[in-house]
Amino acid sequence: MRGEMLDHMKVGIIGGGISGLVAAWHVSTTHPDTQVTVFDANERVGGKLRQEVIAGHAVDVGAESALWRRPEVVALLAELGVDSVHPQRFPAMLWSRGSLEALPAGTLMGIPSDPHAAAGLLDDAEVARAADERAVSLTLDDADADISVGDAVERALGSAVVDRMVEPLLGGVYAGHARELSTRACVPALYAALRAGTPLTQAAAAASSAVSSNDARQVFGAPAGGMGSLPEKLREALDARGVAIRTGATVTDLRRALAHRAGWHVEVDVEGLPEPHTFDAVVLATPAPVTARLLADLAPEAADALAEIEYASMAIVTYAFDSAVAQQLPQGTGFLVPPVDGRTIKASTFSSIKWPWLAEAAPDVTYVRVSLGRHRDDAILDEGDDALAAAGLADLEHALGHPLPTPRDQHVQRWRDGLPQYALGHLARIERAEDALADLPGLAVAGAAMHGVGIPACVATARAAADRAVTSSAPRA
Ligand SMILES: Cc1cc2nc3c(=O)[nH]c(=O)nc-3n(C[C@H](O)[C@H](O)[C@H](O)COP(=O)(O)OP(=O)(O)OC[C@H]3O[C@@H](n4cnc5c(N)ncnc54)[C@H](O)[C@@H]3O)c2cc1C
Repeated sequence: MRGEMLDHMKVGIIGGGISGLVAAWHVSTTHPDTQVTVFDANERVGGKLRQEVIAGHAVDVGAESALWRRPEVVALLAELGVDSVHPQRFPAMLWSRGSLEALPAGTLMGIPSDPHAAAGLLDDAEVARAADERAVSLTLDDADADISVGDAVERALGSAVVDRMVEPLLGGVYAGHARELSTRACVPALYAALRAGTPLTQAAAAASSAVSSNDARQVFGAPAGGMGSLPEKLREALDARGVAIRTGATVTDLRRALAHRAGWHVEVDVEGLPEPHTFDAVVLATPAPVTARLLADLAPEAADALAEIEYASMAIVTYAFDSAVAQQLPQGTGFLVPPVDGRTIKASTFSSIKWPWLAEAAPDVTYVRVSLGRHRDDAILDEGDDALAAAGLADLEHALGHPLPTPRDQHVQRWRDGLPQYALGHLARIERAEDALADLPGLAVAGAAMHGVGIPACVATARAAADRAVTSSAPRA
């Protein structure tokens, strides 16, 4: 009976980033006769997954890879019948104190298992401090006890390990500040070690040996054609299943439907004109500030919790050099930059080296990208494109130690409010929001602000939210 009812449901998905597209895919595959509509404010779907044509080839200008040790993206590509590609594997490099140094093997988010192996990054006194590890204890009787990653590591191993190793690694994921990001939410293995009283160096050794003992398996991957091609592939698959995808459609209001049957009224702005829709179930897959606004009247507690989540803004500048530039790059796939050195860029990726598929697709070009800006440190984004690109190139040349030829083409992609910050207490905040939403049948929240910013986590959260929205929707009158 219930299954029969579900097959005729109308489901609205607000936001067409990876979270919304996967929520739509999940509903349309698990309940094939459901009518699903996706709304996205932009002219194209994909959100932070995006490609632009630079020097004649489509190149990722947002997210580029997914953690392959998690099953979600692997499974999604299998369902879509899409092949995967994988990056070259080189140790991460850091541009620290003016030279490019490899991150030593055996680290957990930059925490060394052997501080002596970090001698290229730390000076003698810093190595000695890290080697003299101090115990850090959390209040074990408080299940919500949390500590910032930076504070935990600083207390245990000294500030240099935070500034020169952990900060750039965490920055690569969150574009945030190690001393503000939640250990519990951002580095669960570190949190478990703190709660168990395990030395952090030992936790790093355990985490890295768990990875290297399965060495043959890929660590990262992307769909063939690059991560930014995934939205279009999903879009095609959704089209084939009859899912309606509305772009240029900004959802402005969400409230209980007033009609005779239970459900949700969604107000959509299309080219300045309001468009009303009614759905039995709705998944909100928008960034937290938008979700908070849409929930403000319906679930004020959830809205308040989500509104507390801050975002980092950043830009990705992609340079298309002549292919000969590949010979001028050091061996590796790029480097991260400790903010303590005061550089403008926070990372660089040698995209054509890192991704063999890109080198094959564009043999005439060497693509290199840099990222700039992080949480509350994004004034550079107010500069014009040329100034941003010039600042990025100057740092890149400085790091490499030699000038580079003028790029054939370049592209600046600004990501305003691009990455949610999992600040101290993040998990408790999300729990508060989800508890408040539990009273609203047929409504669920997905998106990068909830249970992980990485693409695999977004996929998992989206599927769970889609299930919750559909199965909790009120029966029709
Ligand atoms: C520069 C950058 C690089 C990254 N690199 C990686 C990486 O390599 N690997 C990785 O795993 N993760 C990476 N991430 C993180 C990951 O890409 C994101 O967390 C994830 O893509 C977010 O997906 P989402 O669908 O939750 O949100 P978004 O991609 O933000 O999608 C939300 C969508 O909602 C739409 N929207 C907003 N308001 C409305 C409204 N009112 N009505 C309708 N639609 C609306 C937006 O247009 C947008 O399309 C990166 C993030 C950034 C910014």
